[in-house]
Parts: sequence; structure tokens; C-alpha cells
Amino acid sequence: MRSLDRFPRVSLGVFPTPIQKLENISALLHTNVYVKRDDLTGLGLGGNKIRKLEFLLADAGEKGAQVVFTTGGAQSNHAMLTAAAAGKLGLRAILVLKKRGVTECLGNQLLEKLMGTDVRFVDTDDYGDIYAEMDRIGAGLGVPYYKIPCGGSNALGSLGYVDCAREIAGQGIHFDHIVCAEGSGGTMAGLALGAKLFLPGTRVHGMMVDSDPFDVITPALMRKAAELLETPVEITPEDYRLRDMCGPGYAIPSEAGNAAISLMAEREGLFLDPVYTGKAFAGLVELAKEGVFTERDNVLFLHSGGAGGLFAGKL
Ligand SMILES: *Cc1c(COP(=O)(O)O)cnc(C)c1O
Repeated sequence: MRSLDRFPRVSLGVFPTPIQKLENISALLHTNVYVKRDDLTGLGLGGNKIRKLEFLLADAGEKGAQVVFTTGGAQSNHAMLTAAAAGKLGLRAILVLKKRGVTECLGNQLLEKLMGTDVRFVDTDDYGDIYAEMDRIGAGLGVPYYKIPCGGSNALGSLGYVDCAREIAGQGIHFDHIVCAEGSGGTMAGLALGAKLFLPGTRVHGMMVDSDPFDVITPALMRKAAELLETPVEITPEDYRLRDMCGPGYAIPSEAGNAAISLMAEREGLFLDPVYTGKAFAGLVELAKEGVFTERDNVLFLHSGGAGGLFAGKL
């Protein structure tokens, strides 16, 4: 296996992120619930994209890029954090975002305004059109550019979460379960592969907050990341567990998600977001109620950030 330490990487965040026990929620759910504070990754408002960007922006640098493109929805946390990281590294970011859902200058759009980010909105839902638009803009720049896919979710980006699993293995608690949100797939794929490599006996649950075919996307990304790591692991459906927590649609708040946001805010003083972490934590609550966790189990919830989106609109 090729060591994770042998991949080019820029330092953007503060690691390891803390693991804390949620005492009140543990008592309520009759199991031991912990939170991995990846909302505190240390750049911008924190969040899971920082770990991916450490690998992706190092690759951009190695390839001589002066401009990085990325994409997502109008309130993409990933796009905002890419702009923040690029600025820190002296790269120029151009965000080509979907126009649907553009509101007033709130949430991540406000943060992009503060950073002076070059944001272009395109009126399409098709990422193929968006990547073509990046090439069209890029061809006119006259400098090398680098395209980061939606969510930073390619094999290289997902190594950030393979590394997170390795980090968890060094933090001294055995977890029977890890629960995370799955939006573009890189976080879940990285954690599930990382658990297979570094966390024997840990089951990883991806809470799907979009309606993409994650039963195909997840193992495919895991296999590609394993190839990058030159490790001959065989990925089977036992290696990842998926649950549909999308509700009325991607980025549309759900009742269960809103209840989970309130629960976490009232009992633990932590803030989840309506697009990802609220719905994912609602999934953890459902698994607890279904009896999937025993009283002695240790369950780790990945708080993947999303604070920007919390200020973007109504619940
Ligand atoms: C992007 C994002 C996720 C989902 O991670 P993926 O790797 O895209 O599946 C979860 N939580 C927050 C806050 C995010 O911004």
C-alpha cells in the first residue's frame, strides 16, 4: 500500500479535530454518542471539504495551476471553502455555480462577497454543461487552470477521509459505528475505505441527503481511492451502509432534519445545518430508535460543518 503521507498535500486545517461525548443525547438514545468535530477544521467556517482540499489543491499546485475552478449549488459549502483555501494559497478561484436557489446575498454567498470571490452563475442543472463552461472560461485565461469536481468528490479528494479514519484510529476510542452525511460521496467513500484499512470492526453509515445512486457511487469511489493507494482490497456491500434521509429533496429542509437540529442545539449546544448534518443526525436518531446500536456501543457522528448554509434561509 502507498502511504497517505506520500501524497502531495498542503496544510490548510488544524488536525486532529476533537472527539467529544454527547452526554445528554447518549442518555436519551441509550447508547454512547460521540461527535467528531470536523466543523472545527480551522479554515473559513470549518467543515469536511478542508480535508479533501489539502490533497486536491496540492495536486493543482504540482500541475502548475494558477486558477482553480469548482462548482456546486448556489449555497455550496465546498465552493466557499475552495475560494477561502485558494486565497490563502495565492491561487485564484472561479466558482461556476448552479443558478437555481440563488437568493439574496446570504450564507455562503455573503462569505464569497467578503472574500471578493469570482462567482459565475449558470442556468443549468447539468454538471456536464458546467465543466464545459469552466473549459470555455479557462481557455480564455491564458494560464494553467485546474478543475475540482462538485464536492471535491473524486478519488484524490476522498483520501482526505481515508486519512480522517486513520486519525480516528489514533484517538483512543473504539467506535462500533460511524455516521456521516453523504452528498457527493467523497466523505462516505473515504471513511468507509479508511475504516476497512484502519478501523477493524467499525461500521460506517452514509446518510444520503441527495437522490443520486449512491449504491453505485460509493463503492466505485472506494475502489478508485483504493487504486490510488495501491491497496488490493475488495469492496463489498458489507463495507458501507446507506440510508435515505433526503426527505423532500436535496437542500430542502426535512421535518426529521429540523427536529435533529433542534435536539442538538437544545441538548448539546452544537449547531447542525439543514442540508447535510441535520438530516444525517436525524438518521442516527432513527438507527438508535430501530435498535441498531446497543447500550454499550460507541457511535461517532461526523459533524461535517455547514455553518454557512445555516444562515442562508429558513428552516
Ligand atoms: C459537502 C458536505 C457534506 C457531504 O460530503 P460529501 O463528501 O459531498 O458527500 C456534508 N456536510 C457538509 C456540511 C458539507 O458541506
